[in-house]
Parts: sequence; C-alpha cells; structure tokens
Amino acid sequence: MKIGIIGQGYSGVMLAILLKRHDLNIDVTIFDHNEKTNKKLLATGNGRCNLGNLEYNNNTFNSEFTKNLYLNFDISKQRELFNELGLETRTINNLVYPYSLSSNQVVAYLNRLLKEYKVKLVNGVNLNSYEVSNDFVTITMSNRKIYKFDKVIFATGGKSKEVLGSDGSIFRILKTHNYTIKDLKVGLAPIKVSENVKGIENERLKCIASLYLDKDLVYQEDGEVLIKKDGLSGISIFNISSIIARNKTAKKTRIVLDLFKDYKIEELEEKFEKYSRIAVFSFLEGIFTIKMSDYIRKNSGVKNLYDFDNREIKRIAEYTKNMEFTYISTYDFNDSQVTIGGVSINNLNDDLSSKLEKNIYMIGEMIDIDGLCGGYNLMLCLASAYKAYTSLINN
Ligand SMILES: Cc1cc2nc3c(=O)[nH]c(=O)nc-3n(C[C@H](O)[C@H](O)[C@H](O)COP(=O)(O)OP(=O)(O)OC[C@H]3O[C@@H](n4cnc5c(N)ncnc54)[C@H](O)[C@@H]3O)c2cc1C
Repeated sequence: MKIGIIGQGYSGVMLAILLKRHDLNIDVTIFDHNEKTNKKLLATGNGRCNLGNLEYNNNTFNSEFTKNLYLNFDISKQRELFNELGLETRTINNLVYPYSLSSNQVVAYLNRLLKEYKVKLVNGVNLNSYEVSNDFVTITMSNRKIYKFDKVIFATGGKSKEVLGSDGSIFRILKTHNYTIKDLKVGLAPIKVSENVKGIENERLKCIASLYLDKDLVYQEDGEVLIKKDGLSGISIFNISSIIARNKTAKKTRIVLDLFKDYKIEELEEKFEKYSRIAVFSFLEGIFTIKMSDYIRKNSGVKNLYDFDNREIKRIAEYTKNMEFTYISTYDFNDSQVTIGGVSINNLNDDLSSKLEKNIYMIGEMIDIDGLCGGYNLMLCLASAYKAYTSLINN
C-alpha cells in the first residue's frame, strides 16, 4: 500500500509511525512546506510539550464527536503507546509531559523513529491540488512534481501560528472539492478589552475568571490572568477565548475577575475596614502593587487617595470581587494556539475517511475538533491519527 500524508505535524508524523510500526512494507511519504518536521510541536507547553491530561470535563472538548474520538484512544492508551515506542512520560498536576520535559527531545526522538522506519520525507513543497480517481489519488506539489498514492491523508493543521507552517491553505483546496469548512475562528488566545488597562500592564492576578455571554454565566476558571497593554492573557483567558468562539455571538461579552475568591463580600468589607483603620495611607497598597491599587481605587469610583469612608470601602470590596472587562475581540491567529472550526465532521465517516471522495482521510487540527488548554489538542491529534491508522490497516 502506498500512502501519502500531507503535513509533518504531530498528527501526520504519529500516523506514519503507527503505520510503519505495524508493517514496514507500507510505503509512507510525508510532505510539508516547512523544511523540518514538527515545527509546532517544538513550541508546545512552553518548550516542555504537554502531551496530555489525566482529566477532562464538560467544557474540554468542542463536541460529543470530539469527546468520543478522544475516548476511543484516551490518555491511558496514548501513554501505553508512548511506552511501546520507548518514550517515558511524567505527570505534573494531571498534565502529562515527556519525562525529559523537552519538546526538542520528543521531536528528535520522533525524527529518529521516522528514519528507522524509512518513512520518506519530502520538505519545502506545498500541496497545490489533488485529484481522486477510482483506484488512486494524484497530488500535485508546488515544485510541479506529481505523486500517486492508494490513500492520501490530510494532516495540515488549522490556521494558528502560520509561522510554524499551518497557513490554512488546505481549506481553499478542499472548498474546490465541495467540503464544508466550518468558520475558522481564533482559539486559545489572549483577549482585547475595551477598558484602558495600559496602566496595569504586566500585572499577574490570581483570581477566578468568569465569562458572561449577555446575562448568562457560561464558564469559570481559577487561575492566573496576565494583563497586557490592551487586554487579558493567561491560560484561563485562553480557555475563555475558545468558549467564546464555540458559542453564538452575544450582544455583550464580559469577563469578570474575582480577586478574593476565598472571601464573601461581607468578610472582605470587614477586612478592608480593619486595614483602613490601620493604614495611614491607602490600605490597598498593603495588598496590591501601587499601580494596581490606583487602578482599583479609580475604577471603584473612589476619588479620595486614602482615608476612605465606609461607602467607599464597600465599593472597593465589590469591585475587587467583580472586576469587569468588556470583550472586544481575541488577538489574531498568529497569537493563538488552536483553530476553532475546520472541515465539518459531517463530511467525514467515523474512521475519518471522507464521505465525499474515495481514499481520502483527514486528521488533526484541520478537522472541526478542538480542546481547551492542557494537552487536549495533542491528544486529539494522536487519537485522530490512531482512528485513521486502524481503518487503513483494516482495509
Ligand atoms: C505555541 C503553541 C503551544 C501549544 N502547546 C500545546 C500543548 O502544550 N499541548 C497541546 O495539547 N497542544 C498545544 N498546542 C496545540 C497543538 O500544538 C496543535 O493542536 C497540534 O500541534 C496540531 O497538530 P497537527 O498535526 O494537526 O497540525 P500542525 O502541527 O499545524 O502541522 C501541520 C503541518 O502541515 C503543513 N502544511 C499545512 N498546509 C500545507 C500544504 N498545503 N502543503 C504542505 N504542507 C502543509 C504545515 O507546515 C505543518 O507542518 C499548542 C499550539 C501552539 C501554537
């Protein structure tokens, strides 16, 4: 069997390894317009490669289809596979990493496996077009070379971080083959807000972040929010950006931060009153940085610099438990970790083969599957590669 894979990202590379490990006689070629494999994997988990997660919840995956895809090859099976390939993992707070905590090492190791298994790598070429006939698939690359395969698997990623290779060019090609591409939206990215936050840029706030779409509270996460010059960042905000993208547009989208999750409002007022009696200047400066104290005071509508009366203390307490920001937009694809949307799952069979054309499969982030931060997207890449692998070897 001759198999062509477009995309040397995590999903394409893992599929090639699975196929060759099963049968060295399968002829596998992977193409990429990057000069090297797995450029994106190198950047994952801040260079530590967060391969997976031991837990998930109702918000983790964008759909039942995605959740079922994951369950078919879940983290325990994925770890077993890593071990069978000789890769040891470790767990830190439910997050699964390679034992080396190094994405460089993982990429180098996968490259050695590709070499060992004699997977053919063709780099520096872009897929221009493809044609499907009864018995084979013909692909035309940007260097005008034409290749014929029994099966072709697209593993070209989404549109996030184009500099790492995923430029979304596949979607233009697939549209000419009548595929439905669900709106491509930015996921796992910082958020721009309408409030002027320049004065508190680089502040890191440990807090509960709540997302409200109009009046509805739709998501909450305890974590650290980083203030950028025009918006908010940090893992909880990344997750909120994906939840916004997955939902219908609301008239008003708000992010509310609770800076004192361990206190009820009355307890906080009491605490602030006590501190206010002790402090000879603004009591806020004993709790926050000077620039944060100033921001909180002004945004609570308090004019006095210190010596606050009870009404002012109440307003400050209320504000610190409900620090509200109005969502304008996310940052763009270049600042995002994942693309929401992609090839509609309605165009695919359960085994991720195409319903529209023979001998075509699609895996990884290019399909309309996505997960929140924490190793879920790499798990989905591997789970989808495994699904296609099982179908290919059974055919
Ligand atoms: C900074 C960053 C950190 C991340 N950290 C994590 C993490 O810690 N854990 C986690 O689970 N997820 C993480 N993610 C998300 C995860 O990395 C991706 O979801 C995953 O790598 C996607 O893999 P893929 O194989 O589907 O696509 P990609 O890795 O994007 O690979 C697609 C490949 O196809 C090639 N290609 C595209 N179009 C063409 C074409 N027309 N012709 C030829 N080649 C083409 C591209 O060059 C690319 O190499 C992170 C993402 C980013 C950007």
